[in-house]
Amino acid sequence: MKYICQKCGTCCHEVEGKELGYIKRIPLYPEEVDRLINIAKEREITFRVIEDLVFPDIDNKKIYVVTYRILLDNENQCCPFYSNDKGCSIQNIKPLACQAYPLALKHIDAFNFQISIDPLCNFVVDEYEDLKKSDLEKLKEIFVYEYPKAEKFYRKNKKLMFKIRQLEFEKKIKITRDISIDDFNKALKEWDRKEIKVGKEKS
Ligand code: SF4
Ligand code: SF4
Repeated sequence: MKYICQKCGTCCHEVEGKELGYIKRIPLYPEEVDRLINIAKEREITFRVIEDLVFPDIDNKKIYVVTYRILLDNENQCCPFYSNDKGCSIQNIKPLACQAYPLALKHIDAFNFQISIDPLCNFVVDEYEDLKKSDLEKLKEIFVYEYPKAEKFYRKNKKLMFKIRQLEFEKKIKITRDISIDDFNKALKEWDRKEIKVGKEKS
């Protein structure tokens, strides 16, 4: 079996997994946001993001932002770079998460992730029985182009998490693991933002 995208566009839309209680996200790193903002400006497209993966630093009263996610086009509930006739209009420069898809990163805990398969992709739905029996080597064969992208995605997240932990170790920040929802929401409203970035990786 080899992965072949059905070009259905499901992954470019917000889809709620009915049985899974799962909502798809399109995570973006800060530098990807900057790049897409520029493209959107050139094309006169409305492009908005919201913060996604964030860590509150209680010593400096700052919110560290690791990723954002794309706010969908209100009318079509899809990514603003998606069109029904052409699909993704930034195919060659799309975000890393989109390059790796239908492979994605799943949270193990606040600081750890693992490569997983997104169960909402229609190829995955069709081939689910075979995919769930596939080991890592088999997955690499099935997702020939996507697996290296997912590994790049994984390494980048790992470096970002390492950077946060290093700052904590150096006592420059203090990320709280124990914060109530009310205090977290208050911090989100009141504290300044700082983006966490790591250097570029080779493709
Ligand atoms: S960037 Fe392209 S592939 Fe990614 S969600 Fe938007 S339209 Fe889809
Ligand atoms: S949901 Fe899967 S099959 Fe459909 S366009 Fe996205 S990657 Fe391709």
